[in-house]
Amino acid sequence: MVSPVPFINIHTHSQPEEGTVAIVDAGMGDYPNGIPVSVGIHPWYINKYDKTVILEKLFLKAQRSEVLAIGECGLDKFSEVSMEVQEYFFREQIKIAEKVNKPMIIHCVKAFDGLFKIKKESKTTVPFIVHGYNNNDNIAKQLLENGVLFSFGKALLNEGSNAEKLLHNIESNSFFLETDNATVSIMSIFEKAATLRKVSVEELKEQMLLNFKSIFKYG
Ligand SMILES: [Zn+2]
Repeated sequence: MVSPVPFINIHTHSQPEEGTVAIVDAGMGDYPNGIPVSVGIHPWYINKYDKTVILEKLFLKAQRSEVLAIGECGLDKFSEVSMEVQEYFFREQIKIAEKVNKPMIIHCVKAFDGLFKIKKESKTTVPFIVHGYNNNDNIAKQLLENGVLFSFGKALLNEGSNAEKLLHNIESNSFFLETDNATVSIMSIFEKAATLRKVSVEELKEQMLLNFKSIFKYG
């Protein structure tokens, strides 16, 4: 029997749902064995760690085979950590992603100029995926020009959201879907996304699996 195509959820803070392949955000913490995870230093929590050893710890974790991505990490204007320190840790995490050749799941809040600047300076070739995307057309355009990928979550469920508008037109190999910390099922995100793109849920599942395999080197 052919096994059904799973729902791909590239960013969640919960246990994977039945019938899904999910990347659970493990941050710098422990996680159950045998599930795909991402590891990284979130811009909100930088001050909680011993800054002299945390990057070394991250590099060790990043090499593990169940680690599919580095993140979520990035820049957040509302973090209590200074932008200078955030940018330093973001740059260092890009270097780690480069060394292990894994994509980055990026948290970016009102700091896209910094993101573009650092991406250019780093000359990195690892895929950047901005998660929880719900920003305006102008930012979307710049992200597309910079080869950045998108991940859409619960904002898709809001009528007229920026996420909804962008998902209408975006190339099918430029995005992923996620639940993040929302209490919604990934299936409801897929159903809404399929409606917006005028495809069946099955077709969308196949496309997301294809994207997942090519970007995260899964399977
Ligand atoms: Zn998250």
